[in-house]
Amino acid sequence: MAAYLCHDAPDLLTFEAGVTDSRPGAVVLDRSAFYPGGGGQPPDQGRFVWQGGAVEVTSLEQQGGRLWHLLAEPLELSGTVEAQIDPDFRFLMQQLHTGLHIVNALAFQAFDGALVTGANISGDGTARIDLDLPGADNQRLRDMEPAMNDVIDQDLAIKTFALPLAEAARERGTLRSKAVTPPPQPDGSVRIVEIAGLDRQACGGTHLTSTGESRHLRILKVENKGRHNRRVKIGLEEL
Ligand SMILES: [Zn+2]
Repeated sequence: MAAYLCHDAPDLLTFEAGVTDSRPGAVVLDRSAFYPGGGGQPPDQGRFVWQGGAVEVTSLEQQGGRLWHLLAEPLELSGTVEAQIDPDFRFLMQQLHTGLHIVNALAFQAFDGALVTGANISGDGTARIDLDLPGADNQRLRDMEPAMNDVIDQDLAIKTFALPLAEAARERGTLRSKAVTPPPQPDGSVRIVEIAGLDRQACGGTHLTSTGESRHLRILKVENKGRHNRRVKIGLEEL
């Protein structure tokens, strides 16, 4: 989990940046507040604007420690651009990622320490999480929906901070993923996302600043994935 500008400046959605490398249809900037993707959350989308032109940024790709912004057209850019992160897409990702934390926090409590084996957030307003819950009654997972929306209605504050990896490893449930321990930042710490009074876990994603900013959630489906895993699919309630 590297240190990202989108962590330090979560509200920075429009910024000027210099092009430091380019090939047709892809650009590296001297700084970027785009979320690069990871942890089941897709990269930010947006656009670059410059004098006399504009192009959509459709995705991002990390290569050799550098972040390539992939463009919708095979342009080769230079100089300075104004980068604009799509605020609606970012907000959708924040709601769904925080929603997954609410689901896995409630499951962790209800099922005595269920770990996460996978997660995926989609641009269509849904997201899924796989939980290591051998023998679990799927109906109990389906029944969590009112409790999820109760957490949203309580408008709990969400904050992020750094914790030394060794400390995070000692605290039960803070490293929630069964598959991977998030790689520490250069200073040996991991980024923690805390929902006040409910949950804290290591995570590199973009989140809301309080649960009340989210639309209500629905549990769309609970299914078995193999012997151990339960897959919970959630979606944002229609407006
Ligand atoms: Zn997360």
